[in-house]
Amino acid sequence: MSMSSISQGEPQSISPVNDPWDPIRSLRQFGRHRLTSVEMTVTNLCNMRCEHCAVGDSLVLKEPEQIPLDLMLRRLEEVEHLETISITGGEPSFRLKTVEEKIIPLLKYAKERGVRSQINSNLTLDYGRYEKLLPYLDVMHISFNYTDVKDFHEVGFARSGHPVSLEAASRMYDAMINNAYRLSQDGMFISAESMINYRTHRKLPEIHRLILEMGCKRHEVHPMYAADFAEGLPVLSLEDMRAAIHQLLDARDPEVWMLFGTLPFFACSFNAEDQELVSRLRKEKNVTVRNDPDGRNRVNVNMFTGDVFVTDFAAIPSFGNIAGQKLDDIFERWISEHPLSGSVNCFCDTANCCGPNLLVADMYYKDTDFKSRKAINL
Ligand code: SF4
Repeated sequence: MSMSSISQGEPQSISPVNDPWDPIRSLRQFGRHRLTSVEMTVTNLCNMRCEHCAVGDSLVLKEPEQIPLDLMLRRLEEVEHLETISITGGEPSFRLKTVEEKIIPLLKYAKERGVRSQINSNLTLDYGRYEKLLPYLDVMHISFNYTDVKDFHEVGFARSGHPVSLEAASRMYDAMINNAYRLSQDGMFISAESMINYRTHRKLPEIHRLILEMGCKRHEVHPMYAADFAEGLPVLSLEDMRAAIHQLLDARDPEVWMLFGTLPFFACSFNAEDQELVSRLRKEKNVTVRNDPDGRNRVNVNMFTGDVFVTDFAAIPSFGNIAGQKLDDIFERWISEHPLSGSVNCFCDTANCCGPNLLVADMYYKDTDFKSRKAINL
């Protein structure tokens, strides 16, 4: 089978004015949400057990056979408006075999078709397996929430169930930093994501500084929401979150792209402090606020079962399987039939906003009908 029949040519480079993962692009282009992004979970194995891990409850020590790669490639080929793929886990590169037999073919397919690609990794393994991705990968996405190895040790093994020595953690921390630095030098676009949570909210400027030292091209900042592993962790107040973002904006390097996502602050808010922050974010140089892709332009496929989800953490049950259904068809059913899909489906053109993430709406805005609101003060 030729895997390049829908070649879309050389895509525009990824930058603050071109973020192909943002669902507002396809909403503007087609006048409605379309499937443009497919995320694939290629492993549930990981060498870490982070306290905030979105898929923590799914992590295992041994895993079953995967669905045939050909089936996955065929389903991707059928997605008419595919613009991006993301590969996630666990740690996707945990087994070299997964890198060689699954990840590289998926990335090659994407590159041939002119589709952008991202991998979520902890970068703590040997350089060689990441180096193999260099010719094909667009974005290497890592989590970075630390000011030193002590933070890494506490956060990264909080759920390991057995003690992990500081020495062992230290080796992994050094590997991550060295890998990030070397891969950046070798031309990889590394996007480091930090969470705003009870641990990090006063340390973000220092975390930002270390991310720049590693040579990362983008700093992503997302609030941490209570899901799966993170369910029992303290929730930060909206006030502390706003303060943390202002502090980070004051301290950051304005030459480096900073991407905020899943923020709980909207241009339709009646709160003056929310309005002030939204307006500052719009004016800052090299700052973007990505709309949430989950269920808007993206689905997640579990590569072991073929089940399709709206997010990579399965708070909302699977609503289709690629064994017998096309991804575009599964997505259309979600958009037109699922009650949750409609609940946050608003759009304010002037605010560049297409509504809250499902978890955000559930956590902070249970009684708010976003569809009856409109952006103000813009
Ligand atoms: S799109 Fe929805 S959440 Fe965004 S500003 Fe408009 S009403 Fe508010």
